[in-house]
Amino acid sequence: MMRRSQLADATQAVHSGEDRHGQAAPLTTPITQAAVFVVPGLKELRDYARGNRDIYLYSRYGNPTLTAVEEKLAALEGADSALVTASGMSAELIAALIACEAGDELVSMLDIYGGTLKMFQQVLSRCGIKVTLVPFDELKNIERYLTRKTRMLFLETPTNPTLRCVDVPELAAKAHRRNICVVVDNTFATPVLQKPLNLGADMVLHSATKFLGGHSDITAGVLAGSKRWIDAAREMMILTGGCLDPGCAYLLLRGLKTLHVRVQRACENTARIARALRANKHVVTVYYPGFADQTSHELARRQMRDFGMMVSFDIRGGEKAAERFIDRLRLWYLATSLGGVESTVSYPLLSSHIGLSRKQLRLLGVSDSTVRLSVGIEDAADLIADLQQALAKGLGAVLPRGSRFGKYLRPS
Ligand code: PLP
Repeated sequence: MMRRSQLADATQAVHSGEDRHGQAAPLTTPITQAAVFVVPGLKELRDYARGNRDIYLYSRYGNPTLTAVEEKLAALEGADSALVTASGMSAELIAALIACEAGDELVSMLDIYGGTLKMFQQVLSRCGIKVTLVPFDELKNIERYLTRKTRMLFLETPTNPTLRCVDVPELAAKAHRRNICVVVDNTFATPVLQKPLNLGADMVLHSATKFLGGHSDITAGVLAGSKRWIDAAREMMILTGGCLDPGCAYLLLRGLKTLHVRVQRACENTARIARALRANKHVVTVYYPGFADQTSHELARRQMRDFGMMVSFDIRGGEKAAERFIDRLRLWYLATSLGGVESTVSYPLLSSHIGLSRKQLRLLGVSDSTVRLSVGIEDAADLIADLQQALAKGLGAVLPRGSRFGKYLRPS
């Protein structure tokens, strides 16, 4: 055995200090910042080749930090298994590619995140997968759109940005009669409020960039479902390369630990904000499934535990009024995402729904008056006061863009 002191500097620089250091066991799961793992011997490689996946070889195939977050997500979604991916988009592509091949068809609601819509149309078409988009009001007639070639039904509920709910059990039952795999994007609800697998979905999907991460500092995706589907998804992820970085996995793991309290607080805030918006004369329509007179209310009560952390509204006065309102906000950040602890405002026409045709926008209920709010965990009264001052015409100075934070932020 060679003594360490006999080794040259170049070798020492690589190997010294890399031994295990006592039995110190961190209370939290650490970041396993490794792309490659040491293999004990050829026996283990032979076992791997025979299908034994209980060994770590290479981070794209598996990593202990990723395993920890995958097990937590599977538990939260009530799934056998979960897979984390580099982004929500990556999870969507993997789901489509394991369910469909060239010549197959994917049927999706039209009311889905704009990026998903574009990926379905622009990427899946290159793989020979035909995509059929179903307007919201046509979902009750879903059987008309399912053919012998349909392999996947893609749903998102509540929808973006008008927060309409989709009857997952009913649609899943109709799809299952034809052996079609049902995938639900659960990004807006999170597993705290809605468990699509219990409602009949085969796979549930997330942009973990949003509420699951919860702090606007990671990009990540999730797929959860039966072992059979997630094993297939993992193989596809390994081949297409959309693996999550261990540092991101750690932040996701950490974010998930507070998911319940963040969701609960944000839901309470959202209910108060929705009521305040409804009472404001500068607001024409409020989209929030918690209102008893909204078409999705009964369905939301049945399949969700609360009404969510998102609220959208149409402002009186169209694009000019929307721009003026957004410019005047002091606490609400203008951001093209959602789901962080900080409350944000977005303008769907120029963000999530950019580039969609007039007809598509009309079917989605999105106009130049539509503003979307993602509600954080701040004090509800502060958030409401800021919305109200920004909505009030003729009051307050319009601040130059980008200056609403820092010195203008008044303590509560
Ligand atoms: N699904 C929904 C509902 C989204 O809002 C988004 C992104 O905004 C995605 C999927 C895509 O996720 P990501 O941005 O993490 O790739």
